[in-house]
This record gives sequence, C-alpha cells and structure tokens, in this order.
Amino acid sequence: MKKYQLIIVGGGPGGYTAAFRAAELGMSVAIVDDNDLGGVCLNWGCIPTKSLLKNAEVFELINNASSYGIEVGKPKIHFEKIIDKTIQARKRLSKGLHFQVRKLGVDFFPGFATFIDQSTIEVDGNTLHGETFIIATGSKAKHLPSLDHSSRNVMTAKDIFNLKKLPKSMTIVGAGAIGVEFAYFFNALGSKITLLEAQENILPNEDIEISQWMHKVLKRKKVDIQTNALATDIDDEYVLVSIGVEGNSNGFRLNEIGIEIDENQHIKVDQNGKTNIDNIYAVGDVIGPPWLAHVSTTEGLYVVEHIAKLNPKQIDYDCVPACTYSKPEIGSIGLSQKILDERGIDYKVAKSFFNANGKAVASSSTEGFIKILLSNDNHILGAHIIGSNATEMISEFSLAMRNNLSVENILDSIHPHPTFSEAIFETLMHLK
Ligand SMILES: Cc1cc2nc3c(=O)[nH]c(=O)nc-3n(C[C@H](O)[C@H](O)[C@H](O)COP(=O)(O)OP(=O)(O)OC[C@H]3O[C@@H](n4cnc5c(N)ncnc54)[C@H](O)[C@@H]3O)c2cc1C
Repeated sequence: MKKYQLIIVGGGPGGYTAAFRAAELGMSVAIVDDNDLGGVCLNWGCIPTKSLLKNAEVFELINNASSYGIEVGKPKIHFEKIIDKTIQARKRLSKGLHFQVRKLGVDFFPGFATFIDQSTIEVDGNTLHGETFIIATGSKAKHLPSLDHSSRNVMTAKDIFNLKKLPKSMTIVGAGAIGVEFAYFFNALGSKITLLEAQENILPNEDIEISQWMHKVLKRKKVDIQTNALATDIDDEYVLVSIGVEGNSNGFRLNEIGIEIDENQHIKVDQNGKTNIDNIYAVGDVIGPPWLAHVSTTEGLYVVEHIAKLNPKQIDYDCVPACTYSKPEIGSIGLSQKILDERGIDYKVAKSFFNANGKAVASSSTEGFIKILLSNDNHILGAHIIGSNATEMISEFSLAMRNNLSVENILDSIHPHPTFSEAIFETLMHLK
C-alpha cells in the first residue's frame, strides 16, 4: 500500500493548488481525479467559456469595424472552430498542470477515489494510505425538476462544448454570471436568446444598478429577458439550465466514514476547512458558496498552510471578487447598497461613468460606470464596476479591502494615464 502525508481527492483549482503548495512545503503528496487535472474550471468552466466569449467579442468588433474607419467583408462563423479553440486552450493549460505535477514530485492517480476508512482510499485497484486528506471534489450543475434533463435539447454548461453547430435559438434558465455570459455569447453570434430569471432582477447577487444596466444592454441587443419567471415546460430548440450547483459529495462513501454533509450536499467544515473528522479537510465548491475558482484556490492554499502549521491569515469572505465576463464586463467586491441599507450601515457613494474616462473614449468603450461604497472613515465597503476591463480593475479593490487601505491610500498611488483603472482614481477624487 502506498503511503502519503497528504492525499487530495479532486484535481480542480482547489485540489491542484493545494497539491503544489504541499509539495513545495516538502510533504509527500498524491492527487486523484476521475476526469483530468483542472476540474470544471479548466475543462468546461472558467477557461473554455472565456475562450468562447473572446470569439463573440471578435465577431462583434469585426461587425463594428467600420465605426473605427476600417471596412471589412461580412464575417462568417465556423462554430466547430470556435469550440476547437476552447479545446486547444484547455489542452495547453492541462499540459502545464501535468508538467507541474511531475516537477514537484506529486503522484497523480487518474480514477475515482472511494474512502475505505478515514485514512485509506481506493482508486482503480490502488489502495492509498494518507495521514491527512483534502477533499476538493467540486460541484455539479443543479437540474430543474420541471424539465426532462435526459432530453437531447436540455443542457447544462458542460454540454455546450458538444454542440456541433450554432443554435438558432436557445432559452437560458438562470441569469446569474454563467447564464448572462452564455446569453451574451450566443446572442452576439446571432442565436435568438430568451433569458429566464426566477428573481426580480438578472444577476441577482450584483448591486441593483449593475443588474439594471446589464438588463438594459442585453435588451438593446434583443435578448428576450423575463424576470420573476418560473421555467416550466419550455418549447425551444435548446434549453440551457444554469440555476446553480450542488456539492459532489455522493458516491465515494463520505457518509459511511462519518463525514457531515448538509442538505445541499456540501461538506460541513470549520473556519480552518476541517471536517468533523480530524485528519480530513475539504475546500472549494464542495463546501458551498461562493462557487468560484479563486475561492477554491485560496481555500486550498489556506488549508495546506494550516496543516503545515504556518498560521495562515484567515480568509475574508467579505472580500471575494466576483466577475461576469460578458461585454460589458462586471467586477464587484464587498457589500451592495441594498445590503448596506438592510444592515443599517452608514455609507457614502462615489460614482463615475466611463464616458468621462480618456482611455474609454479613445477606445470607443464608454459603456458603464464605477460605483464605490465607502464608510464614513473613507474605507471601502463595496465596489461595483460595469464596463471594459472591469474584471481586471476589481483586483485593486481586493488589495485595498484585504489590507484595510483607505481612499487616501488609493489616491496616494499613481494610476497610469490613460487607463480604465484611472477611473478608480477619478471616482474617488470626486469625494475630496
Ligand atoms: C460554465 C462555468 C463557467 C465558470 N466560470 C467561472 C469563472 O469565470 N470564474 C470563476 O471563478 N469560476 C467560474 N466557474 C466556477 C468554477 O469552475 C468552480 O468554482 C471551480 O472549478 C471549483 O473548483 P474546485 O477545485 O472546487 O472543483 P472542480 O473544479 O469542480 O474540480 C473537482 C474535481 O474533482 C473530481 N472528482 C469529483 N469526485 C471525485 C472522486 N470521488 N474521485 C476523484 N475525483 C473526483 C471532478 O471530476 C473534478 O475534476 C464556472 C463554472 C462553470 C460551470
């Protein structure tokens, strides 16, 4: 039987990041995955979708080229090439992960792991003993009970990558980040899109002004948006269900070894990521929201450093950036205005529109705004950006919030001109 100090079950961003850090810290490490390293993020989540979205952006840009003084012929879509490009991106990054695994001396076991007891797993005929385990088995898309998910035309995000041609029309159920990204993508390429959302607003987790702005943009692009809408029997060429996820905690004997799991199939953990069993930790999507790759990664690093007794700084779940990679992009962090009102917290609002920003005007990308919510002592409570490069700009707020930097600290830092990020400086200058 092979023995390891640490065994990681699940090779997505939570799992592989933990494996690499543990190996760097000198632990003997094994990682197991029944698919391939990279998890949902690399195989049909973050990376392949961003590759798709880039194609939509290029198509829109070419269609709009004459406004830049450039005449081109009518562009033609080769859908299979668009899908193939996502596969190439995935393959390239996957190679990098396998290279790291070899370089750091991590043992990779392809196959489905099943717990035999609290210190032993079985993978494809191999029995592995671990002093400590990290479960990083991720999540899977929730199904909608009112739809027949075995039907050829009812899909979740993973199935998009098996499409052979561009759908003429599609109903997307669920207008969170994933639903909105796919709505933008298919609409930009010419599919007729209906977007259904059960709540009052699309992107219901965003600040209301961001949701409303994106609603306006998609409406302008002729997406049929229906809010307060419950999906029942939908008659469309394709239906994409993106209503959230549930933890991958079934089928590998977690119950049998006594691990506590909640009603959404998420593994229960304490503030250090430890389950109710002393030598077993869990990170990432499988422990619940926010279901984001960078959260999985952060938790993976934290847990390994905690196991190594390095006393890592606690993760601050109030400082998690969330991004939607449509056009315009959205980047947000911290509290929304609604939550501040509900909690009775005093705040000030600083806001500016990209149509006043030099780089935005010069590059004809003036859509959107920055809204910053500040405490009375000029610290950031929340930041909400819709516009070009919003997903890049939000990191400045992540740095500021995590390190308790004030408005004065941000204004004291030189922002290059002309840039979109200069708009952060300009927005805060209005407060002076
Ligand atoms: C369409 C889409 C777009 C997304 N876009 C973004 C984005 O832009 N940004 C972002 O931050 N997040 C995004 N996400 C979410 C992101 O993909 C997840 O939050 C992230 O992948 C979770 O990482 P993880 O390591 O927790 O688990 P996963 O990435 O789910 O990896 C878990 C791995 O464990 C394996 N596994 C499960 N059970 C076992 C077992 N018993 N034995 C062996 N292996 C097992 C699975 O096969 C999988 O490979 C997106 C998700 C989707 C679906």
